This record gives sequence, C-alpha cells and structure tokens, in this order.
Amino acid sequence: MKIIFAGTGDGRGIPAIGCECKRCMIARKEKGKNRRRRVCVIIKNRSGTIILDTPIDIGRIVNKYKIFDIAAIFLSHKHWDHIGGITEFEWWDAGKIPVYGNMSALANFETTERLYDRCKFHVMHDRESVKIGHIKFKAFKVNHKVPTHGLVITEDNKRIVHFSDSVELSLNDFEKRQVKKANLVIFHTPGYDGGTDHIDVVSVMKIAKKHPNTSFIISHIGHNNLPHEELEEHFASYKNLRVAYDGLEIKI
Ligand SMILES: [Zn+2]
Ligand SMILES: [Zn+2]
Ligand SMILES: [Zn+2]
Repeated sequence: MKIIFAGTGDGRGIPAIGCECKRCMIARKEKGKNRRRRVCVIIKNRSGTIILDTPIDIGRIVNKYKIFDIAAIFLSHKHWDHIGGITEFEWWDAGKIPVYGNMSALANFETTERLYDRCKFHVMHDRESVKIGHIKFKAFKVNHKVPTHGLVITEDNKRIVHFSDSVELSLNDFEKRQVKKANLVIFHTPGYDGGTDHIDVVSVMKIAKKHPNTSFIISHIGHNNLPHEELEEHFASYKNLRVAYDGLEIKI
C-alpha cells in the first residue's frame, strides 16, 4: 500500500497564524519542506483511498491528490487540528463515506443534515477492528489529553502502527509488541526535547534505537521543533528513522 503524508504540521501548522518567529518567517519565504499543513495521512491501495484525520486543509488536500473516491475516514481524536475539516464533506457528492472515530471525536463537531447525508458515522471502541477492503484497522487507546485512538493497520503481512497524538515516553506491552512486528511506526512529535504534551523527537530516537528492524517516521511537527534539515542531520546515523514532510510518499 502507498502512504502519503499530505500534512505534517502540528496543531498550528507552519507557518503558524500571526507568528513572526524565525521558523515561520522562513516557511513563508522558502516554502519547501519547512512548510507544513496540519496532519493528514492518505492510504492508497487496491481497496481504495482511506484518510486518517481531516484537518481544516482537507479540501485542498483532496483536490491536490485528485481524490474522487473515499473508502473510509478515520478520526483519531477530538482536537480540531485532526477533525476541523470534516464539514468540508458536506459538499461531497461521490457516495456516502464511512467515518470511524471514538465517541469523543464524533460528538465534537456540529453535524448538519447535509453532512449526515454524505457521511455515515461509526463509533469505534478501544481494540476494535474494522476491515476496509483488504486492510484491517485496529484501534488502540493512546495516552493523550483527550480520548485518542492509535491505529494498527495491516494488509497481508504488512503492518503500520499510527500513534497519532500521544504523550507516552515509554511503550506499554501491547504497543511494544505492535512496534516490534511493524514495518512502519508513525509518531507525532511537535517538539524536539519536551516542551509540549506529546512524545518528543528525543524519545522517538530512543525507541528507534531499541527496535532496529522497524522503520519510524515522525510527523505533526511544530514551529518550535528543529528545521527539517537539522532533524535529518540528527537522524543521519539511524537507518530506521526519518522525518515526514508534506508530500512524502512511501510504499509498504
Ligand atoms: Zn494534534
Ligand atoms: Zn512561529
Ligand atoms: Zn491532540
């Protein structure tokens, strides 16, 4: 399956609204890999297109990637940078979209009659699995400020673990097992070394070192984190760790 990192910024995105910090000024001027929309992953395979999280930029993302058919949407949690774009689908006329999320995420937006016509909402519980065509999505609760689902995504013998926003600095037994078996693990790291309510880059580096046979990608990067190029320099000695950027596509 193909994984597209359509947005890789934290809740603010880079440049952040009204921010004159050096990072945001560079992002406005140079664009490139230091400019990040809010977080969104697109999965494409023989079962169709699946979207993980709908930030407010989702309309532009769907147009950019010429998506005319959506097999499912998964919402990780109620924070607006992850669900704020769902109402864009009020105007979706290409068939009803199944939308999965926990109760807290699904209850957080004002649904309108129009949106209910276009989307079918399904509450997903901790450790519950859903099959979309050939891919299985298993939700698992991660530690964040609000109820949040990570996803274990499996197709045939390929496995991706998507943590979404999480604060754990060390993994629990279930997570360790999943990470060990995974081809790819995605973590959200707004900050480099603490300073946010999320796992940071330094902690992911430690986890990556412990699991040399698994690939790791960091995303959801904030304007106080290091620039893309510096993060890559820090990862130079790691064969299994890389930084996402808007538009990164990988095949698993
Ligand atoms: Zn977030
Ligand atoms: Zn800034
Ligand atoms: Zn969050």
